[in-house]
Amino acid sequence: MGIDETLDRINKMRDNMVSTLTELCRIPAIGPTNGGEGEVKKAAFVQNLIKDLGLKVERFDAPDKRLPGGKRPNLVARVGKGPRLWFLCHMDIVPPGEAKGWRCDPFDPKVFDGRLYGRGTEDNGQALVSVLSAYQALLKSKTKPGRALGFAFVSDEETGSTFGAKHLLTQDLFEPKDVFVVPDWGMAEGDEVEIAEKSVLWLKITVTGKQGHASTPNEAVNAHRAGAFLTTAIDANLPGKFRATDPLFRPWNSTFEPTKHEPNVPNVNTIPGEDVFYFDCRVLPVYKTKEVVAAVQALADQTAQTFGVKVVLEATNQESSPPTATDAPIVRELLEVLRRVRNLRAKPVGIGGGTVAGPLREEGFPCVVWSTTDETGHTVNEYAKVDNLVADAKVFAALMAGPA
Ligand SMILES: [Zn+2]
Repeated sequence: MGIDETLDRINKMRDNMVSTLTELCRIPAIGPTNGGEGEVKKAAFVQNLIKDLGLKVERFDAPDKRLPGGKRPNLVARVGKGPRLWFLCHMDIVPPGEAKGWRCDPFDPKVFDGRLYGRGTEDNGQALVSVLSAYQALLKSKTKPGRALGFAFVSDEETGSTFGAKHLLTQDLFEPKDVFVVPDWGMAEGDEVEIAEKSVLWLKITVTGKQGHASTPNEAVNAHRAGAFLTTAIDANLPGKFRATDPLFRPWNSTFEPTKHEPNVPNVNTIPGEDVFYFDCRVLPVYKTKEVVAAVQALADQTAQTFGVKVVLEATNQESSPPTATDAPIVRELLEVLRRVRNLRAKPVGIGGGTVAGPLREEGFPCVVWSTTDETGHTVNEYAKVDNLVADAKVFAALMAGPA
């Protein structure tokens, strides 16, 4: 039996895939950082799906004292021996947000116009179900995988991956020649393959002056004024200083966004003695994040001098990873499968950063991030297009089957 039979199987599995994804999304899996009870219940469901395929499930749970059960589950299944093609998906989701905006209960998914609405349908349930269905279709059509395969369904992707993918990386599980498909990002046509991410740098800036009454400003040092000045100074200086562009990425340039701002005083007639704000910086690989920190530090020092305040700079999150080469075998193979199975001329791209591919690439593993989505993850009315669920399963099945 060949790949055509497998792909045909996948068409017939459409309704099944929708009902599996529906059941999956009925089990919320919100991490403790976001106030949830974790992934244990969802993992039990996924574990059964894997066992139904005749695979042995290996558990690599990460301890997390914040939860009553004390663990964050990570499920692994391996098929065959040798350099392995891994499919890595995450089980956790983000909170549903405003309930009243949803077309249906976010935890009781419903299909409208060929789209399954519900929290976690697109991010990352679609991929999880597509991957398992692809393997199931191979089994049913008696098509042998053309290579060793690995499936990893992890926790904690939405809040840093410490208890998920990063934990797996410490478990001697992956071999040096393994490669990864991470179906956790993608465009509507499915014609972009993510091979690079910008470095992500989060800066927390604390400006301290002296609180006082608004009627006697001479006796106070207004931290808000100094903070506002510094925000504007960073905003005006950094884009010019780090002006390189790279057409692989969208947007082409490094970006520096003022984002969170802590509340200061509760009343209008008090001069704030403290001002705390944050920048989210996405930096092209050509620059080191410490160069950005140094540039902000210089502006902070100037501000401190001008306004008589104290400014403390903290990098609360710094992640950078080397790109996967455009001509890496897994990249070429995925592009070839997309052409053969979906008639797509896809291209490699770089994005603003933040997928689990980062830590994998950091450890030297070639990694492609790909799926077909309308990018509705994290929004109210998140949905997975049923067509994408089916079409992506075909691509995964062809990758599992190996070169034509
Ligand atoms: Zn995701």
